[in-house]
Amino acid sequence: MKRIGAHVSAAGGVENAPINAHAIGATAFALFTKNQRQWLAKPLTEESLSQFKQNCEKFNYAPEFILPHDSYLINLGHPDREAREKSRASFLDEMQRCEQLGLKLLNFHPGAHLGQISEDECLQIIAESINMAIDRTKNVIAVIEATAGQGSYVGYKFEHLRAIIDQIDDPSRVGVCLDTAHIYAGGYELRTRDGFDETFALFEDIVGWTRLRGMHLNDSKKGLGSHVDRHDSLGDGEIGWPPFEWMMQDERFDDIPLILETPAPEMWSDEIARLKACAG
Ligand SMILES: [Zn+2]
Ligand SMILES: [Zn+2]
Repeated sequence: MKRIGAHVSAAGGVENAPINAHAIGATAFALFTKNQRQWLAKPLTEESLSQFKQNCEKFNYAPEFILPHDSYLINLGHPDREAREKSRASFLDEMQRCEQLGLKLLNFHPGAHLGQISEDECLQIIAESINMAIDRTKNVIAVIEATAGQGSYVGYKFEHLRAIIDQIDDPSRVGVCLDTAHIYAGGYELRTRDGFDETFALFEDIVGWTRLRGMHLNDSKKGLGSHVDRHDSLGDGEIGWPPFEWMMQDERFDDIPLILETPAPEMWSDEIARLKACAG
């Protein structure tokens, strides 16, 4: 079945995220396990951990349908050694927080070369960063998000995702998340049935469906291949409604978290209801 939710607030504690998700009719959700704009966070308390687990159980959110997102500050492909170490330490902390919460996935943006190294070098550094974190944790799968390629971000081509995966020592610990706004701005057509089919056929060829651990469902304010990352509510942007309906009717998107990151949280319950209706 389709698992549809949104990136909900964890204000006041991670234990509030499943409550917020349930309130909008979600069957999956995403969250930040710490303030996403700060490097350091207080450790999760025992109280918070047990409340989180209780609430997830109460509202039926199994770990594979929860897609935590890491901090926006982290750049695992940073060309500067010291800055990279800081990102790696923070990423490891994020992985460990997920483990403590009993979660299986951690979604993150691969990284940016900042114009100082080549894309290939950046991809290699990112893979090394992921390997280091995987080596020091047990279960959490590192879920690389496809990007729009804004600024000097890598990850806007399926080949980039593949290049990272190929350099991961334990392939069972790596997956990908496709964000519809990002891949569209990255240059992958979604608006026509032919374009949609071709995009996902390419994904199958280059990355493979078994790697897909989640999707972000966002419309895009910016055009095809614009490399600008601006989310819009479903149906209000450049992509339009039909591709989201096609996804809901497509079994390839079953049993993974399908997460809205659309800009109007007051519309999430309607967006979820509409998607669920299309899924049947
Ligand atoms: Zn993201
Ligand atoms: Zn996203």
